[in-house]
Amino acid sequence: MNVVDYLRISLIDRCNFRCQYCMPADTPLDYVPSATVLTNAEILTLLQEVFIPLGFRKFRLTGGEPLLRPDVVELVGAIAALPQTQDLALTTNAFLLAPLAADLYAAGLRRINISLDSLEPEIFHQIIGHRGRDRWQQVWDGILAAHRVGFDPLKLNVVVIPGVNDHEIEDLAALTLDRGWHVRFIEFMPIGNAELFGERAWIASAELRQRIRDRWGLVESTVRGNGPADVFQIPGARGTLGFISQMSECFCDRCNRVRLSADGWLRPCLLNETEQLDLRTPLRSGESIGVLREQVRSLLLRKPEINFKARESGTNDGVYARTMSQIGG
Ligand code: SAM
Ligand code: SF4
Repeated sequence: MNVVDYLRISLIDRCNFRCQYCMPADTPLDYVPSATVLTNAEILTLLQEVFIPLGFRKFRLTGGEPLLRPDVVELVGAIAALPQTQDLALTTNAFLLAPLAADLYAAGLRRINISLDSLEPEIFHQIIGHRGRDRWQQVWDGILAAHRVGFDPLKLNVVVIPGVNDHEIEDLAALTLDRGWHVRFIEFMPIGNAELFGERAWIASAELRQRIRDRWGLVESTVRGNGPADVFQIPGARGTLGFISQMSECFCDRCNRVRLSADGWLRPCLLNETEQLDLRTPLRSGESIGVLREQVRSLLLRKPEINFKARESGTNDGVYARTMSQIGG
């Protein structure tokens, strides 16, 4: 059985962007009441008393937009300082990154994933649902700040939307040539905007790879991450190209992760909404932490069955109650 040792922690379900594929601007969202958002102390208790004793060693802070959380640097410092932490990463849209990059690095963060779906400001603004202000430039400045500070690896996440940014695949892939940045192409999933998904659908990673291969050639990378990405490299490039193909491939059998939402729900499988476990209510009502740990342990034992059930029973029909911003993408 696959070892599940990776927890993705959503720090907040709010965001300063309204990406079309995640929280489209015209769709009202129910944010969780702020009183239900786990505090840093609660997150640390869950890590130290529940997840670490169960073997978790890798943590990613995400959201919503994690940099909107005022105490994010303190949390990074506290998790990085846990002796059991082997890997700590953060996923951000980088809008607020430039002034925070050095503090995050000093607090112990080394790995960062930044969402960047377009190099063309106009298209970028269309995707993130904001017009009128130059958010692209501020994001780019955030990426450059992270580079200067020394984040390594620095990964750029690209969600490919047919007819919107798929003409930029080669330009985005070219970012790996000189700088040692890594680009991850993610197949668009029907979570968050089923309508856009229905209209635009998704492009299989194999097709993207072929386009890049035609231009430069492409070899399988010797660096294999511990995630679901298939990793390749343009010959001679300093960075790698990853392809996350959750639509065209099923990688449930190598899934090593679970997700904790900002309001404390543990979700065993991204594509299956069943069997989520509320950790906040028992934690706040003084339930024994040992009981909580056993509930999580038993959920983890059932995870393979939960993963595959989504595929076999067709529960992933494209209608999800929560968006990626709420789940912690
Ligand atoms: N706000 C941060 C950001 O955008 O990087 C972190 C949270 S965001 C939900 C995490 C990742 O999920 C981003 O890389 C985003 O592109 C991806 N994502 C969101 N909705 C998606 C969808 N419908 N299909 C594929 N990826 C999606
Ligand atoms: Fe916000 Fe990230 Fe979702 Fe975009 S993908 S709306 S930046 S949470």
